[in-house]
Amino acid sequence: VNNVSDSTLAEKDRKHLWHHISPYNEKQDPMVVTEASGSWITDSEGKKYLDAMSGLWCVNVGYGREELANAAYEQLKKMAYYPLTQSHEPAILLAEKLNEWLEDDYVIFFSNSGSDANEVAFKVTRQYHAQNGEPNRFKFIARYRGYHGSSMGALSATGQSQRKYKYEPLVSGFLHVRPPDNYRRPEGQTVEQFNLECAADIEQKIIWEGKESIAGVIMEPAITGGGILVPHPVYVKKVEEICKKHGVLLIIDEVICGFGRTGKKFGFQNYDIKPDIVTMAKGITSGYLPLSATAVKKEVYEKFKNSSEYDHFRHINTFGGNPAACAVALKNLELMEKENLVDRSRQLGERLKEELEELKDHPNVGDIRSLGFLMGIELVKDKDTREPAPPSLLSSIIGDCKSRGLIIGKNGDTVAGHNNILALSPPLSCTDEDFEFIVSTLKRVFNSHK
Ligand code: PMP
Repeated sequence: VNNVSDSTLAEKDRKHLWHHISPYNEKQDPMVVTEASGSWITDSEGKKYLDAMSGLWCVNVGYGREELANAAYEQLKKMAYYPLTQSHEPAILLAEKLNEWLEDDYVIFFSNSGSDANEVAFKVTRQYHAQNGEPNRFKFIARYRGYHGSSMGALSATGQSQRKYKYEPLVSGFLHVRPPDNYRRPEGQTVEQFNLECAADIEQKIIWEGKESIAGVIMEPAITGGGILVPHPVYVKKVEEICKKHGVLLIIDEVICGFGRTGKKFGFQNYDIKPDIVTMAKGITSGYLPLSATAVKKEVYEKFKNSSEYDHFRHINTFGGNPAACAVALKNLELMEKENLVDRSRQLGERLKEELEELKDHPNVGDIRSLGFLMGIELVKDKDTREPAPPSLLSSIIGDCKSRGLIIGKNGDTVAGHNNILALSPPLSCTDEDFEFIVSTLKRVFNSHK
């Protein structure tokens, strides 16, 4: 794939490639990324950018890690493929390693993507209740603004209407409640009171729907793609307590928050809870190969123990737990441990918060929130009314960052008119120099937008 000129590549792109979340091809003007190393990507024109989004929140150990390429190569030579209807060493060792990171007893079901992992979680949850003598527990509660994937079940759990309305009817039984958006909490309420009220919404939903019909609650430790909404710890604790009280399984989606992003190995570990099911993807291989996992608590798995053949968990995934992907994941976790990237995430996150504190004085910065090395900067038109900033301001800031060599993200909820949050999720391996570059570029760009 080398030796093709830039203009030919762009032309071929428009002709043949359907991009993810894209306008019609004729309008697409993508950055063709040709190389990447550390925190930096290079486009086909040779321009370098610091990727402060780690691709799509994936590349925690940075790009161009030879150790990961070698792990894939060695495994592909030794044993390229066998399905997990049987077993292989990389999957076994990775499952063991994930349990170490989860700090509890889980069994691991491997798939290929975050969406897949959540589909498995929903099916396991429904079947668990059926085998527990409660077959009517089929509904799931999720939060508005949460994102859980693009396949029909995971999309049904997603709480962002702009992603859903053209694809309905979706899977029935998915209900939504408001997330704790602390910046926009009602006046007069403390963050703690507001978070307890948001948790109480979940209990009300359970009661009003009939608790014998509720299978599970799914949530991210902090909502990421929906605008970096970091809950107060009382929220997460309370949700766990409510789930336990009503016999509802708690599914934690760690697709973005997992693998050090939030300053802990997994995001839920910030909140001292024990989820029944944990789903993960992206950072598990730092994006080097597709892999995801659904970790199911032993007590839940036990319900499948004496099932007759008719009652087996009827789910198969041809490529799930691919040996090379598992080998890469194992090496990825080894690198993270060796380089203390979980601690580094926490430290860089703290430093980023301190460094960017001064942005709070900017007339359009309504709120800055973060957890580990994950940050959201909410832009408003007016600080008193908190009216979201117009899309043009976000485009302009993102564009200026890009022209200075810094890629940052944007998220929120388009339909609700809140697509006004800038996102930062740089590689956890980013060097002090990289870090300074992120901070100085952001300060410069914000200063030029006063
Ligand atoms: N859950 C969350 C929290 C995500 O952010 C994503 C992807 N952005 C998914 C699930 C779906 O993952 P995938 O794109 O690998 O299917």
